[in-house]
Amino acid sequence: MGLPRFGRPKGVEGELSPNLFVANCGPAVGYSHDTIASVFSAFGEVKGVCAADESGARVIVSYCDESSARVALEALDGHPCPDLGGRSLHIRYSVLQPTSQGKVNDSVPVSLVALDLNIPGLYLLHDFVSPKEEEELLAAVDDKPWKSLAKRRVQHYGYEFCYEVNEYPRGVGLSPHIDTHSAFEGFIFSLSLAGPCIMEFRRYTEGAWLPKDTSSTSTMVQTPENGPNFLRRAIYLPPRSMLLLSGEARYAWHHYIPHHKIDLVKDSVVRRGSRRVSFTFRKAKTDPCQCEFPQYCDSHR
Ligand SMILES: [Zn+2]
Repeated sequence: MGLPRFGRPKGVEGELSPNLFVANCGPAVGYSHDTIASVFSAFGEVKGVCAADESGARVIVSYCDESSARVALEALDGHPCPDLGGRSLHIRYSVLQPTSQGKVNDSVPVSLVALDLNIPGLYLLHDFVSPKEEEELLAAVDDKPWKSLAKRRVQHYGYEFCYEVNEYPRGVGLSPHIDTHSAFEGFIFSLSLAGPCIMEFRRYTEGAWLPKDTSSTSTMVQTPENGPNFLRRAIYLPPRSMLLLSGEARYAWHHYIPHHKIDLVKDSVVRRGSRRVSFTFRKAKTDPCQCEFPQYCDSHR
């Protein structure tokens, strides 16, 4: 399970919550969650303490009721705390945030193998190329000029509109999308090199509104695995792995690389490498798409 989806408050003064965002304490500065829980339990029953982010110095303290949180906040905020080595705590109310992209703490559980995702047509082959081949491929692309886009660089081979090689700086992702049905044939391959990443998949329920961009989808997610309008899955793409999207995975699921610099995989924190290079292979299509997913298909409109 990933970190819970708590966040800093959105700046609403006087907003009550049983959850407190507490800065300047945590394992990174020498205080375990148990110690923090016992200090805060002087003000009421503490349900739990968890990390607010990956810093190790900011935690969320969850009380059973709002009044305990209020008393604790008033007593401890901005004052040296004798039970925590005299550290001054900085405390705000914390509210459960709607999930939005770009935060490490809204991660859906990440699978290591494609089968776990239960998406027909999705395949992942580990160690598709050797470390030596990876090195040679990276050297080959770095010999050629990159074309700069807003957040990444690309090289095109074959058709100009077809992104064949992408380079992603650390933490840069892609917005959810389905590769246009009519533009490409049914198999899409993607080889990951250099750095690892997480790829998320979303299956929007039939008849639901389809997102045009990332910012508008982010408000729709309400639980880690299922939003009101879509199913959500995630897979870890290690360097030198080959991903294949076909069938339902290619035609009906949006895919997406979240903008994280740190990913959670099976409870382990994975930091992105300095960059990831993907080789994406698509075959240009000349006739209309004949897929079984008309609701996602530009040829059926
Ligand atoms: Zn189609």
